[in-house]
Amino acid sequence: MNTKESAQTILIVEDERDVTDLLTLSLGKAGFKTVVANDGVIGWRKAQTAKPALIILDLMLPGMSGLECCKVLKSNSDTARIPVLMLTAKAQEADRVAGLEYGADDYVTKPFSPRELVLRIKAILRRTREEDTGEVMSAHNIRIDPAKHEVVAAGKRLHLTSIEFKLLRTLLQRRGRVQSRDRLLNDVWGYESMIDTRTVDTHVRRLREKLGTAGNNIETVRGFGYKFREE
Ligand code: CA
Repeated sequence: MNTKESAQTILIVEDERDVTDLLTLSLGKAGFKTVVANDGVIGWRKAQTAKPALIILDLMLPGMSGLECCKVLKSNSDTARIPVLMLTAKAQEADRVAGLEYGADDYVTKPFSPRELVLRIKAILRRTREEDTGEVMSAHNIRIDPAKHEVVAAGKRLHLTSIEFKLLRTLLQRRGRVQSRDRLLNDVWGYESMIDTRTVDTHVRRLREKLGTAGNNIETVRGFGYKFREE
């Protein structure tokens, strides 16, 4: 077993005992440490103190809802880069879409297979790790340092969510080449996801806003996707 992976902590934010027991057991067998929070407010606190590698967030929670919790996690610079995997009921499609728009990284629908969930978590962590070991990139007054997870645009440090960071990095790496929404969904969110392509538009819009004038370098290719302008 990969020792680096075995040391990682997963924060489980869920109030249903059956589910937390199942997750604790399955993740423990897969070599992860787990921390459980039974409501959204405690989940938010533990996300800051336990420094988890990933957060499993149920959307149906007492106190602060899972959706609110996701919003808070993704808008705070201390926690924005921690990947969030949402647990949702089949009927919660609107909430699921909202969660993805707030910056959740993926979702699993209840009832789920613990084996599939563990595979999904490993895939997200692998992608995150690969992204953290890349070389420093810069173009158009934007500098990305993957090891530090740092983005500086026109001398100003930006606070990006995990998805915004991946999206910017992908677009910048492939600058001058048009990227379809499907391709971006596949490469940024991961092939396992079945996410609506509108989610791509929401994230590009937010990324442009955060980038300020440098955001003008992301061109919309109507009816197809996006392109980062060649220098
Ligand atoms: Ca619940």
